[in-house]
Amino acid sequence: MPVKENLANIRKTIPDNVTLVAVSKTKPDDMILEAYEEGQLHFGENYVQELTDKSERLPKNIHWHFIGHLQSNKVKYIAPFVYLIHGVDSLKLLTEINKQAQKNNRIINCLLQVYIAKEESKFGLDEKEIENLLISEEFYKLSNICVVGLMGMATNTNNQAVIENEFKGLAKFFQYLKASFGTKPNLKLEQISMGMSGDYQLAIACGSTMVRIGSSIFGERNYLK
Ligand SMILES: *Cc1c(COP(=O)(O)O)cnc(C)c1O
Repeated sequence: MPVKENLANIRKTIPDNVTLVAVSKTKPDDMILEAYEEGQLHFGENYVQELTDKSERLPKNIHWHFIGHLQSNKVKYIAPFVYLIHGVDSLKLLTEINKQAQKNNRIINCLLQVYIAKEESKFGLDEKEIENLLISEEFYKLSNICVVGLMGMATNTNNQAVIENEFKGLAKFFQYLKASFGTKPNLKLEQISMGMSGDYQLAIACGSTMVRIGSSIFGERNYLK
């Protein structure tokens, strides 16, 4: 696979202030190394076991993003090294991440996943739930996590207007939260993680600061994960 060429082509379309997370789930180490040798440091995985195994084998300065649905009982495996957890969707999960971060004597950066799609299958919190979480006293006791932004996944559709509407809604909500909550020791709203291979350019136009791109770099995945 022409990982090097794909990566170069994608990079041309991404502004400097947007972080490219290369989504390497299901892909072998040699492909990751090919991108790494081109200077790619941010990689995203969505299975704990796969992420942990890869992090042990691959260069230690890689920034590993967890982009899947994280179960509380698995936080401990990634807590020692994970760079950013994208899909946090409950106070319970945030509390467990905080506990494991404390054990590892570090602060773990997290993104709250906002439910923006019109599909039942997508995980996330709605806007009211996020506000309630950020207002809660329990949240401010969590001193070993930092919520650095929001993450969202648009509806899986070819209808650009629907996707654009969802991305704009997320960006607007982000600005609203920033204005209402300001900055706290464990809340620094800086990142909007939205956009994948099929919709990342639209996401950037709508205000994304972090895109998660897999198949356009590494090719189609052979099986669904
Ligand atoms: C797999 C995945 C991606 C990348 O999808 P592509 O369409 O291959 O770019 C992005 N975000 C999440 C949460 C994913 O699970």
